[in-house]
Amino acid sequence: METKLPLEFRLSRLTVASLRNLCDTNKVAGASNLLKEDLVKFVLDNFDKSTLSDFCSAQEEIYFVEGMAKAIKWAASRKIVEIDPRSDHTMVNGLFTLRRSDGYEVYKIRFVNHTTDDAATSCECMDARDRGYFCPHQMTVLVRCLADGLFTLDQWAGPMSQEAEDLILANVFGKRRRRS
Ligand SMILES: [Zn+2]
Repeated sequence: METKLPLEFRLSRLTVASLRNLCDTNKVAGASNLLKEDLVKFVLDNFDKSTLSDFCSAQEEIYFVEGMAKAIKWAASRKIVEIDPRSDHTMVNGLFTLRRSDGYEVYKIRFVNHTTDDAATSCECMDARDRGYFCPHQMTVLVRCLADGLFTLDQWAGPMSQEAEDLILANVFGKRRRRS
């Protein structure tokens, strides 16, 4: 997955555990007592940019594929995801509602120009607003739109990865990997 986000921001949205793990794996000592902000500075000082960028990409791919696996389950429930029937190929409005033990998680999701190069997607959750992730709530709306035939995977211009696409093809459409 490609991203134009600055490296420091991409590092800052990873967990402290995964940043420490990066240091441990590479036998870089001195990270164990650092808190998030200092830890991000520490890895920027101790690793080269391409290593960090690759590490972020790998973590982002894990986030994306794990989120997509959840989204495929959630998208099957009309209680969890609703698409505004006026939605079309220029604009999709979705509502995500998930019951938790302590109440409900409710987020509004919007895709604008999602089949063109200037695709914009948003969700009200922290992962999307503060961390710039294409969150599992947006993925749920996406999967529902695809399952309902509002648009196809080929038309979708928003975030996607090969592995996530394979998950959708296999679990939503019962197809194996596409050859392109
Ligand atoms: Zn979200």
